[in-house]
Parts: sequence; C-alpha cells; structure tokens
Amino acid sequence: MQVGGPPVQLGGPQAPLGSPPVQAGGAPGFAAAQQSPARRVEAAPPPATTDPLQAAEPEPRFTWPLSPVPQVTRPFQRPETDYGPGHRGVDLAAAPGQQVLAAGPGVVVFSGQVAGQGVISIDHDGGLRTTYEPVTPTVPTGTQVFAGQPIGTVNPGHLGCPVEACLHWGVRRGDEYLNPLALIRTEAVIRLKPWEPP
Ligand SMILES: [Zn+2]
Repeated sequence: MQVGGPPVQLGGPQAPLGSPPVQAGGAPGFAAAQQSPARRVEAAPPPATTDPLQAAEPEPRFTWPLSPVPQVTRPFQRPETDYGPGHRGVDLAAAPGQQVLAAGPGVVVFSGQVAGQGVISIDHDGGLRTTYEPVTPTVPTGTQVFAGQPIGTVNPGHLGCPVEACLHWGVRRGDEYLNPLALIRTEAVIRLKPWEPP
C-alpha cells in the first residue's frame, strides 16, 4: 500500500521564454576627443566598416542643418505606435530667420506648406528622408542640393519650443522615424567650423 501524495515541486518563477535579446549596439566608438588645432589630422582615412549585419542601421552621413552647431532643445522620442505620442525628430535652437542647411546631398521632394507651416523634405541615398520645419523654403521641389546648401530660413512657432525659434529636424526611412542625432557624422561636426574669427 502506497501512501503519499505526489511530490510537490516548488520552483521559482522562470524567466519567460521568448524575451527579446538585448541588442547592444549603436554606440559609436569614435573618439573625437583628441582634436588638434593643427590641420594635419586629416590624413587617417576612416576605417572601412562594411559589415552586412549593419545594413539595418544607416551609417552616420548627415551634417547639422544649422551652423554653428545648435543646442538641442528637445530630443528624439521614438513613437511606440504609428500614431502614438512621441517626438519624431529633434528640436534645434535657432534664431528666427536663420538659414537652414541641407543635412546631406539629395533631392528636394517637398517644399511648401503643411497645415499652415512651411516644410521642406529631402530624399537621400539609402531611402532616407530628412524633413525641416517650420521654415520659409528658398528652394523649390525638385531641386538637387548638396550637404550644407541653404534651403530655407527658420520660422518661430514650433510647438513646445523654449527659445525664440526651433528647427524641427526629422529623419525617416520609409515609415520608420530615426534619431537624427545618431546619423550625424562626427568628423563632419568637427569640419563644420568654417568661420574665421574677425
Ligand atoms: Zn519638434
């Protein structure tokens, strides 16, 4: 005669299966700390990074759309859903009327008004599109532009802007919004100081 219930196993809570792997990536290992005022530093070519696994993340290729390098007044916040809350770009402090510069070479695919605000969009290689608002456009749709080319001037009136005027700068690939600051070339930032002191 057998007595005794089934053994009871008190297991601890198990980690749920199928939790997404943590992806550690995107941190640019580029140390820009060692800048020398001398101009001979330009000799070293950038290391070739042609890892096919990085195809999902576009390489940094843009320059700031304002000069000098602006203050970021509101960072990018990726929306969780297509229509959910978020901030689909970065806000950059500007002076009203300040020139807006193309962040990279491309073609102006929109230059006009959206809901009463001037907007410019530029298509770039790799399926990337940059958008600038609120602006007064100075180039028509269809214009081929180079990086740093003036494309309009900043208007005040961007929602939540804490200073006189803010340029809202967005980057999209298809329907996916990307963080523009992650796409700024570090060496380009260093080069973006053509102003000579008076
Ligand atoms: Zn904004």
